[in-house]
Amino acid sequence: MHTDIETIVQAIGQGSIPSQASEAQTFAIVRFPEEKRLVVTGGLHPGRELEGERTEAGGTPVFVGPLSHGNALALMRHFPFTAPVPHRGRPFTLGLGDRLGIASGGHLRAIQGRGVFPVLAQQSIRELNLTGRTYEEVLAAAAFAVFEEGYKDGYGADGDHLKTPDEIRYALRCGYTMITLDCSEQIDNTAASLGDAEAKARYDGLPADLREHYEDKYLGRQVPVDGGPVIDPERLVRIVLIYQAAISYTIGIFHSLIATTGRPIDFEMSIDETLTSTDPAAHYIVARELLDAGVVVTSLAPRFCGEFQKGIDYIGDPVLFEKEFALHARIADHLGYKISVHSGSDKFTVFPAVGRLTQGRVHVKTAGTSWLEALRVIAQREPALYRELHAFSLAHVEEAKRYYHIGTSSETIPALNSTPDDRLSGYMDREDARQALHISYGLILEAKTPAGEDRFRGRIYACLYKHADAYAEGLIRHIGRHLDTLGQ
Ligand SMILES: [Zn+2]
Repeated sequence: MHTDIETIVQAIGQGSIPSQASEAQTFAIVRFPEEKRLVVTGGLHPGRELEGERTEAGGTPVFVGPLSHGNALALMRHFPFTAPVPHRGRPFTLGLGDRLGIASGGHLRAIQGRGVFPVLAQQSIRELNLTGRTYEEVLAAAAFAVFEEGYKDGYGADGDHLKTPDEIRYALRCGYTMITLDCSEQIDNTAASLGDAEAKARYDGLPADLREHYEDKYLGRQVPVDGGPVIDPERLVRIVLIYQAAISYTIGIFHSLIATTGRPIDFEMSIDETLTSTDPAAHYIVARELLDAGVVVTSLAPRFCGEFQKGIDYIGDPVLFEKEFALHARIADHLGYKISVHSGSDKFTVFPAVGRLTQGRVHVKTAGTSWLEALRVIAQREPALYRELHAFSLAHVEEAKRYYHIGTSSETIPALNSTPDDRLSGYMDREDARQALHISYGLILEAKTPAGEDRFRGRIYACLYKHADAYAEGLIRHIGRHLDTLGQ
């Protein structure tokens, strides 16, 4: 580790610290004892646009600054490959959510040589709130990792599960290249459980021109793909009741906020947060309506049959999944966008089918699994800290369930006091423990001591900073397994 500035400047000059030149200046990210910092050498006024301190080493001006959002913006100006880009048209794209802001380096190494386009900065507002981070910070972390890894093949930034115009404006203002619109508040889930007569009565209450529009276009027709279902009256009534508000909301959002940004945006419509799985006929009608209204769709996320719970494998009948997924994939292909698979962490049972049926044209989102890999490193390297985190998670699991739904019970998790240190990481191989630890990430990061200081956050970051290579190796192995099973 280099600490004094002259040695650092020498190491940059000799190439033992990787750097990139922009005009007369040389930029490098350097590991200091506590944290990484941006170091810029050379130039007449080095770092005038940068946040940090100006100093000197052997007559050369040197600038040392934090990995802040302001410095990330400067980096993007000097090195355009560090700015996010849209990915429409790219076949396999992978969302790699990084809740701690330190996983992107490992993620980039995991995808190396696999032809995968990574969406590194992928975060929902819920995740921002639970981790106490901002869109600016999330994007900066990705940009610095891209620079540090010397990765030049492009990455995306996804404002995930955004619901309101303000949330969308915020992500766009920060330079995000993908917007995932969450229509769950416009989807009428109550219509799914109505009796036929009740549903028909409610449908008849809709404006006549709206009903005519749907009936003329879809009634009695087959979804135009191999094996596509016929849209009979009962089906159409329900689809219109459940989705028509979401359809018009999405069209409005696209034309008022997305199409007017002046740059291409990957627009994804997510209808995965519904109570029941998405009828392929509903998927078709929703997408057809959007496209006919001029919405440019990069991807669409249906809800699939079975359960996609956080951080564990698929729950359900894989044969049934495959049958339904094949239809969704054909509809997406026919209409010219990609299927997006949400909660894609650890769904190893269905990944081979997802890869094969989409012929590798698919978007898969992961996030929680990288947090669990971080906990695996802590379990292996700092057992005492892990024990505290584990006990805290279990004590707060009911509270954490307010944010995420899980199906496992924490009562089956083997007791901490009878588990020796060298077996602690085994918790990360059990679904019950994975889920309890997964959903409590926000409570862990935001936990405070009685004096109001962070209880765990600093120690978590310090441990993962010290064992950065172990974390990267864990991610290479685990995200690699995702890609292997997806056929990438
Ligand atoms: Zn989702």
